Amino acid sequence: MMAVVKADAYGHGARLVVRTLAGQIQFFGVACVSEARELADLVEPWRLFVLSPLLEEERVECVRGGWSTWIGSYEEALAFSNIAGTLKIQARLHLKIDTGMGRYGLDPMQLETALHGLLLLPNVQWEGIATHLPSADEDQDFTRAQLDHFEQLIARARVLGFAPRWVHACNSAGWIALPFGNLVRTGLALYGIHPMDRAGCVVHPPLTWKTRVTAVRTIPVGHGVSYGRTWIASAPTRVATLAAGYADGYPRHLSNVNAHVLIRGRQCRVLGRITMDQMMVDVGDTPVVPGDEVVLIGKQGAAEVTARELARLAGTIPWEIFTNLSHPRVEQIAIE
Ligand SMILES: *Cc1c(COP(=O)(O)O)cnc(C)c1O
Repeated sequence: MMAVVKADAYGHGARLVVRTLAGQIQFFGVACVSEARELADLVEPWRLFVLSPLLEEERVECVRGGWSTWIGSYEEALAFSNIAGTLKIQARLHLKIDTGMGRYGLDPMQLETALHGLLLLPNVQWEGIATHLPSADEDQDFTRAQLDHFEQLIARARVLGFAPRWVHACNSAGWIALPFGNLVRTGLALYGIHPMDRAGCVVHPPLTWKTRVTAVRTIPVGHGVSYGRTWIASAPTRVATLAAGYADGYPRHLSNVNAHVLIRGRQCRVLGRITMDQMMVDVGDTPVVPGDEVVLIGKQGAAEVTARELARLAGTIPWEIFTNLSHPRVEQIAIE
């Protein structure tokens, strides 16, 4: 498995996740060289795999750091080989082929031509052949055809003498729906969220996001709550103010869509617009006092708020809910 720990491990804390999984995981996927740099003291350098295409000056740091990455063209591989030659080391590369994502990778039509050149590059250690799945969670027919195509490309590459150790295509959804190859690049599933929300799947999200109540007041009839006065009390309402807002990563799109938080094991509805640093909820007759713990994502007693539910209400995906978590404003605490 490649544990994908880009974007601060989807808001879970990349250093924490890497420290926890080191010794059990083949690669750790990061987005860019700055993320690799942050983790460089924790694992062997080649276990850090940079997933986004690199600019020329970033390639130098990547090769010097001994990190793994992939290339999507002969020209990129040549640049890596030249840098590695200057540094008198080998670049550890995987060949990425674009079989449908349209983001990055070699055109399959160019595979044979490119391989003739790639195999002659003197300072490259070829470690893998890879592709990416755009629709593994939505379109399994397309994904199956895509994987068949990738399999043919791998066979053709092998005939030409390109048979690296790792074959990878799957993200979380691909791994669960149509496992393929000998390496999976797992992000969301690693954080306990099923990419397709399949009922009956047992996954345990390890993350709980908490804040606290800072004020409780009763708002009279006709009184508005928050910017734009989009919510007006039609009855006297006990309102708690919470120490979290959109600057912490609670999406502003959760204003006025019946999102809930948990206080004292009860669901409390969000009132009016989410502000930058604070938000207001209806606590009803629950005996809430300032200082009470509030769960924004996670369990409290028997009640639960999931990242998927917040994503649905905010019109986005759970990935974005997690990556919006704003550290260090939102403090990360590890509990074992
Ligand atoms: C982020 C990323 C993944 C992980 O995707 P999940 O859906 O979170 O499992 C896998 N592969 C690549 C290339 C990525 O950029």
